[in-house]
Amino acid sequence: MFYSMIPVNSPLLSGNEKIYLNECIDTGWISSEGPFINKFETSFASYIGREYGVAVSNGSAALDIAVKALGISVGDEVIVPTFTIISPIQSIISAGAIPVLVDSDPLTWNIDVNQIESKITSRTKAILVVHIYGLPVDMDSIIELCNTYNLLLIEDAAEMHGQTYNGVKCGSFGDISIFSFYPNKMITTGEGGMILMNAEELYQKCQKLRNLAFEPNGRRFVHEDIGWNYRMTNMQAALGLAQLEKIEFHIKRKREIGSMYADGLKNIKNVQLPLPETGYATNIYWVFGLVFDTEKAKIEIVEHLTSLGIGTRPFFWCMHEQPIFKRMGFFQNQSYPIAEKLARNGFYLPCGLGITNDQINYVISKLI
Ligand SMILES: *Cc1c(COP(=O)(O)O)cnc(C)c1O
Repeated sequence: MFYSMIPVNSPLLSGNEKIYLNECIDTGWISSEGPFINKFETSFASYIGREYGVAVSNGSAALDIAVKALGISVGDEVIVPTFTIISPIQSIISAGAIPVLVDSDPLTWNIDVNQIESKITSRTKAILVVHIYGLPVDMDSIIELCNTYNLLLIEDAAEMHGQTYNGVKCGSFGDISIFSFYPNKMITTGEGGMILMNAEELYQKCQKLRNLAFEPNGRRFVHEDIGWNYRMTNMQAALGLAQLEKIEFHIKRKREIGSMYADGLKNIKNVQLPLPETGYATNIYWVFGLVFDTEKAKIEIVEHLTSLGIGTRPFFWCMHEQPIFKRMGFFQNQSYPIAEKLARNGFYLPCGLGITNDQINYVISKLI
């Protein structure tokens, strides 16, 4: 009965969240004006090692703004992994640009950096890297390509708060980076996101795009551009600030959860586990994924876990296999075998920060 349900994610809200939220209510600062927003932006940017942060309503919104702020538009090509969440690809397409897909590395599940150069054309404007599930993309190769071909670099670090690449924080590379604070991320604001950058001009552009492109100094309600209402509320930022105070603990706990699974499952056969480390990073285990030899085996296991009240989540579905993009004429007759196998044969286990060790051990014993 105790184990009636283990959700795939449950957040941990164990710090000053209530105190700061009460402050919002007591003072009446509940909209996107209010003191927590700037505090959260400044503290998070400084934690990652960037000059500026622009808090927004979610991570997907952050990508929309990042792509537009960099001037990516009609006819431009942007290189992205096919194995990812839809957000980066829809931001590129919404801007009128063309996503150019790359297959995955079979071990890290990130974009295969060795397959990028052959995709670069005279129209390539940017590389948008997405750090997937717990290990960072091999950034040195990416930065070298960007320098050689004069490309912009966007980093989707929505799953990587606190992760480092060769000792340098993910989300501090390239022209612009984005984070999400959805409840399954390392820190949460309920819904929320942030755009980070070092260039002041880019900072001002992003602030403007978040706020319906109101001119900060021009006549009110007269617009030179269109943007979005992607503002974060003071209440979300209050949550974010409380969460940020506990981030080191959250990261340590994520790695603990991942290590418990890695250790408990190390002898099971015909299943690929996440790499514990690479030459440039140790896994932060944002999620703990499993890749089975066959899709059939995966389906059977997921059904069994579900019947035991253990929540799971399938891996991403490839971008070149999305019905909407096919209908729009993108990615015709393309195939990316590694990513396709990950999408079909992979899923991840309950690994939210709210999980207990007893629950982890129960999942391990049932899986075995
Ligand atoms: C969560 C996530 C996003 C989207 O963030 P939302 O806040 O849910 O919009 C974007 N990219 C990646 C890699 C993510 O994991």
